[in-house]
Amino acid sequence: MSWEVHFDHGIWLPQIGWWLDAPKSTPRAIVTHGHSDHIARHREIVCTRPTARFIQERLPGRREFHVLPFGQTEQLTLDCTVTLLPAGHIFGSALVLLEHAVHGTLLYTGDFKLRGGCAAEACAMPRADVLITETTFGLPRYAMPPAPDTERAIVEFCRAALAEGVTPVLFAYALGKSQELLRLLDAAGLPVAMHPHAARFARLYAELGNAMPAHRTLDTQGHRGHVVIAPAGDASLNYIHPKRTAAVTGWALDTHTRYQLGCDAAFPLSDHSDFNELLAFVDGVQPRTVYTVHGFAREFAATLRQRGLDAWALGKGNQLELSL
Ligand SMILES: [Zn+2]
Repeated sequence: MSWEVHFDHGIWLPQIGWWLDAPKSTPRAIVTHGHSDHIARHREIVCTRPTARFIQERLPGRREFHVLPFGQTEQLTLDCTVTLLPAGHIFGSALVLLEHAVHGTLLYTGDFKLRGGCAAEACAMPRADVLITETTFGLPRYAMPPAPDTERAIVEFCRAALAEGVTPVLFAYALGKSQELLRLLDAAGLPVAMHPHAARFARLYAELGNAMPAHRTLDTQGHRGHVVIAPAGDASLNYIHPKRTAAVTGWALDTHTRYQLGCDAAFPLSDHSDFNELLAFVDGVQPRTVYTVHGFAREFAATLRQRGLDAWALGKGNQLELSL
């Protein structure tokens, strides 16, 4: 017997009756982290404490949370236990390890990052029979440069702008990337003004025990002499003048990203594993079967098959590939 894995706007495990990260409301879901494309109004949710807090912030309402600390194993059904382990993507983000009496072990990554960050827990790498992995950067061309080099370049970009009396504006996700940048800039001695959305999540990080450096919340007066961190393309930033903008995203490896976003610069600092980390993770988990999801899922599954693994993209027309 093995795990049955279905994909229908989220990953469905019919043998245990639970969904993984479904972006639509379901009776029961395990949620790996608080990004909006991974959450929905489920009736029952298994997740970490930070993720529960982020879900309530984004989707207020009544629901039943089963909050699990990292590494604590709980019975999920009669035959199956669940353990959440750090995923290194954002604060509180989890890998999901399921251990079934009949079907063996299944590991689901959610979004994950192997290399260390400064505001998320270090990623675990347990062994499992079946691996469901995200493949956002599942092509060889997505090889991130060493993070310290990128971080240095970001700090230099900000320092140069401030020295010229220009406000540097870094575009980043409000949850996760913004807090990483705040830590980085604070360590470099640069004052930061955070967009209210990012400041709200920085406050939640602190409430949850992940203390954040001092910063001010962006207002119409409060940006001079500061590095501004804000979500990309926020029209409310028009009053900041003069400014120099930079996108902080793994997609910066695509040279057109900078032009598409209309930024002066783009820095490839990502919360996701790059191609080589995806391969290293698969090697470490040593699964019998791999399912890929998000981004270059088909391409990465094909790469794994070339390496002799049983690997399939979820919801991506594998029927066609099987018939070839
Ligand atoms: Zn995410």
